[in-house]
Amino acid sequence: MSEQFKSSDLVFDRDHIWHPYTSMHNPLPVFPVVSADGVRLKLDSGQDIIDGMSSWWCAVHGYNHPVLNEAIQSQLKQMSHVMFGGITHQPAIELAKLLVAISPKGMEKVFFSDSGSVSVEVAMKMALQYWFTKGNRAKNKFLSIRSGYHGDTFNAMSVCDPVTGMHEIFSGVLPINYFAESPNCGFYEDWDPNSFQSMQNQIDMHHEELAAIILEPIVQGAGGMKFYHPQYLVELRRACDKYNILLILDEIATGFGRTGKFFACEHANISPDIMCVGKAITGGYLSFAATLTSQKISDGISAGVPGCFMHGPTFMGNPLACAVGVASINLLLKSSFLEKVNRIEKQLILNLSKAKELKQVKNVRILGAIGVIEMKEPVNMALIQKQFVENGVWVRPFGKLVYIMPPFIITNEDLSFLCQALVKVVAMQ
Ligand code: PMP
Repeated sequence: MSEQFKSSDLVFDRDHIWHPYTSMHNPLPVFPVVSADGVRLKLDSGQDIIDGMSSWWCAVHGYNHPVLNEAIQSQLKQMSHVMFGGITHQPAIELAKLLVAISPKGMEKVFFSDSGSVSVEVAMKMALQYWFTKGNRAKNKFLSIRSGYHGDTFNAMSVCDPVTGMHEIFSGVLPINYFAESPNCGFYEDWDPNSFQSMQNQIDMHHEELAAIILEPIVQGAGGMKFYHPQYLVELRRACDKYNILLILDEIATGFGRTGKFFACEHANISPDIMCVGKAITGGYLSFAATLTSQKISDGISAGVPGCFMHGPTFMGNPLACAVGVASINLLLKSSFLEKVNRIEKQLILNLSKAKELKQVKNVRILGAIGVIEMKEPVNMALIQKQFVENGVWVRPFGKLVYIMPPFIITNEDLSFLCQALVKVVAMQ
């Protein structure tokens, strides 16, 4: 074991540090990582493993990227942080310009925040404040779809899937919102209008109290890794307009190229009223997010009393995050990311489809640079994670879902290695 990770440090880690979604009693083992470069994580043991997760959708350009490093280093020499109240700076302006330019039509106003969950809180607050300032206090509920995920803060949790989102633990405290069934018409299937029926029913029943409908466009991520039909969003946009409900799209996981479009809602050619972006916005370098909205919503909020939008995180518009965000988006724009994602998609189809024949596997689905193997039974996390590392890859499943979304820079050779390891380990379960 290297100097960096004394065994006493790992004992301290286990005894004192919470990792995501773990118990402090008998937590799952953690793997010490000492550095990361390209698509590889270097473990303390000296072993290099290929990262199949892009650090949870973020590291689209891989790790230790010279252009992103340079952006952050040169910004560091200017200023690492300065408050955003009463002050502005070039990195924030540049990033906002880029976001407005690449976002769906009508997304013109940008609110920066520090994490995806906060950007969802901001979006929900914008929708509420819009209706309040318009004098419609009855519109104070949200409608979402089952199997969704929007973050771990309270309002975000209140629109996550009620079962996997742990509503039971916080019942009585969480705001009560409404849910339609998860769309059951897959991305590649023929459109089935019946798949919109549950949503239509909820809208019919509750439209007078609905401030907004919030959902992840096309790909439901952490709530189930499901890909649904673009027509669902077309119908939803139409219904929101008809019934005077705002549409919030959570593009936090899907944004910045992952599904083969810059934003997943482009598959349906629609624009939301409010949109959340995060994760890959900084190429995975720093925690950062933004909530974008239209002239109509910002006018609505600004015209009323108090007239200002009541939110302002301490690290709002952090210059380091903005600078690396600008560099990351410019890299995407220059690097023909679409070709890369299409190449990854083709190879995932080629290399993962054979997993369908395994008796342990229920379904294999691929969209853009996302490959999902759905098992018949939940996996044993401690065991499977060890097996993945022994086979030279980093994959972190949840429940029955074993999935990868590698950095876009992955070579054909590394992707083939990753897929082979994935299928091999799945077959061992
Ligand atoms: N929305 C979606 C769709 C997400 O996938 C996530 C993060 N997994 C979030 C919101 C919350 O983002 P954060 O973890 O940055 O708070």
